[in-house]
Parts: sequence; C-alpha cells; structure tokens
Amino acid sequence: SLVLVTGASGYISSHTVEALLDRGYNVRGTVRSQDKGEYLKNLFKDKKGSFEYAIVKDIGEAGAFDEAVKGVDGVAHMASPFHFNAEEPEELFRPAIQGTVGVLESLKKNNPNVQRVVVTSSVASVMNSNIKPPHTFTEKDWNDVSPKECEEQGKNASGQAKYRASKALAERAFWKFFSDNKPSFDGVAINPPLVLGPIIHQCDSPESLNTSVAVYYSWLKGEKTEKDLPAGGMNYVDVRDTALGHVLALTTPEASGERFITGNGPVSGNDYVLQIAKDFPDLKNIPKGNDDAEFKKKLASDAIIHDGSKATRVLGLKYRSVEDTLKEMGRSLRERFSF
Ligand code: NDP
Repeated sequence: SLVLVTGASGYISSHTVEALLDRGYNVRGTVRSQDKGEYLKNLFKDKKGSFEYAIVKDIGEAGAFDEAVKGVDGVAHMASPFHFNAEEPEELFRPAIQGTVGVLESLKKNNPNVQRVVVTSSVASVMNSNIKPPHTFTEKDWNDVSPKECEEQGKNASGQAKYRASKALAERAFWKFFSDNKPSFDGVAINPPLVLGPIIHQCDSPESLNTSVAVYYSWLKGEKTEKDLPAGGMNYVDVRDTALGHVLALTTPEASGERFITGNGPVSGNDYVLQIAKDFPDLKNIPKGNDDAEFKKKLASDAIIHDGSKATRVLGLKYRSVEDTLKEMGRSLRERFSF
C-alpha cells in the first residue's frame, strides 16, 4: 500500500519514510523542492518499498495537497514549522493549522479510499507551562495556556509560546475536522517530546540543523560551559522510536481516534556531557558532568514527565536506551560535519 508523508525532507519524517519503506510500504513524500526530493530518492533507492515525491511548496495554501493525496491508503502529516523565531504568531499558525486541515480537506475531496491520517503533534499540545514539577502529563491533558498567551500578547508572546500554540491549535483543528465532518477515514495523533538521535535528512551545515538536534549539537561542539549545567527538565524520545510510533499508529486498529505521547522520560545536559565523554573522549571543551547516582536521580525526578506508556501498551512501541540515542546522534553529526 501507498502512504503519503508530508514534509518528508524533515528530521523525523525522513526516519518515518525509512521505517515505512523498510516494512515494505511504498511512500510518496511531499517536499518543497526538487533538490530535496532527489536527495531522498537517492537515500532510499535500495529499500524494500519504493519512494516517490511530490512538490508542495507551501502547505498553508488552500488546496495545496489536492494532487498529492490521490490514491494513497494512509497519510502521516508531519510538515509544520518548528522554530522559536516567529515574529507574528500567524507565521506559524497558518502553515500549522491550514496545513493540517488542508490535508484532511483534500482527502475528503479527492480520495474516497484513504483509511487513516496520523498527525505529528507534540507534547507542546499537551503541557501546561504553569504547572511545576513533580507532575506527570498524559494524553488527557491539553495546552490551553500557550494559545491564550498568543491571543493576549500577539507578537510579544514568547517564541516558545508561539510554537506551542501552533501545535495545540493545529491538533485541536485536526480533531474538530473529524467531529464536524465525520469522514470515512479516521485519525491518530502522535505527541513527541524533544526528539533526539541520528540525522539522515539533507542538511549541509550545522546552521540548518533542525531545532531539537541543534541544541545537542552546541554541547557536542563544546559551545556550552559548566555554568549551563545541569540543564535538566526536558523529556526526550529517540527519532527512530518516534518514527516507528507513526508506522504503528497507521497500522494498529485500536489506535483509532487516540493521541499517543511517544516519550522515554527525562534527559538533561548533564546526560549529554557524560555520554559525550564516554563515546567521544577526543572531543575538547566538553563541560564535566556530575555522574553521582543520587544527583542524577534527583535531576530526573525534578523534571516534568510526559508519560509515554500508552504508546507501549496500545501500539507495542518499545523505547531504546538513552545511551544508544545520544551515541548515534553524536556519531551521525560528527560524520556529517566531519569533525
Ligand atoms: P524539521 O524542521 O526537520 O521538519 C519540518 C518539516 O516541515 C520540513 O520538511 C519542512 O520543510 C516542512 N515545512 C515547514 N514549514 C513548511 C511550509 N510552510 N510548507 C511546506 N513545508 C513546510 O523538524 P522536525 O522533523 O523536528 O519536525 C517534524 C514535525 O515534528 C513537526 O510537526 C514538529 O512540530 C513535530 N515535533 C518535533 C519535535 C522535535 O523535537 N524535533 C518534537 C515534537 C514534535 P523544509 O525541509 O523544506 O524546511
């Protein structure tokens, strides 16, 4: 069968395409340029499933997906801007919300046989930044704080609030489409925290790294100091696990209408530097972390938790170790940027 993956040139989506092809699905990826499409075609030329691409320049435009949706059996809608530098909230809201609703409308119009759409949402749609740890968020929670902050403050809202609101509003619009339209296909949302792990997508310079890997990269390059430690409070998931989560969400009947946090618990800058020292002892200027077991335990228990156990229970998703994630991310970045 044929799966449409939107924004296939991205960090998480390229792994999702790979996971689908490895399992024998054929994939049509949407990309913004021929160059990005050809890169992927070459990357995936020896896979079990076959890869083709369609150019969709701006997902925020009405009817953007009208052609790309034709003939596909399932969709992973992954394209959405992820950065914290928007001036106006609208810069993010339009592609995030209209992109999501647009895929669904194009399917309704042009594809009577599609079965399921999985949307890449985020814990940004789940969390409430006013709640302090210790606290565990689950799929029952919704971030209404960031949309409110953007509504009240407009361009003066923080960059994070603008991004988080774009994800929360896009996922709200996704579910609203189903309740308003009762289409013949169903939906699933995947809500990852910080996504880490190796890069396989086209990225020619560290400056153009995707947002989540860029943060780790500055630690790997020795651009952080002891003062930046321990940098706790984050939750993470491996990019390969979250990619597989999308595949399982497309194929597991019980996933219908559900949200899934794909999260493997807390990670910190302290974890980064300890692992870098182990895997890459030749790298210089890496601040020294604290390897004391009690310290690490306290750091993890001081973090907010995004509970990823429902994805394991319902989708059968197992999470790999943080050591593997950090090691493979470091290895791929050193290889890509030759240092
Ligand atoms: P990337 O920036 O690598 O991928 C984003 C993708 O969306 C790219 O393919 C990009 O195209 C495309 N895109 C963005 N804006 C537009 C637009 N206006 N028109 C067409 N295409 C567009 O980031 P990630 O892989 O990290 O993000 C993928 C998804 O995962 C996003 O929905 C993001 O919100 C979500 N997510 C990411 C997390 C993370 O930690 N990485 C955590 C939780 C959720 P191009 O390559 O041409 O720029």
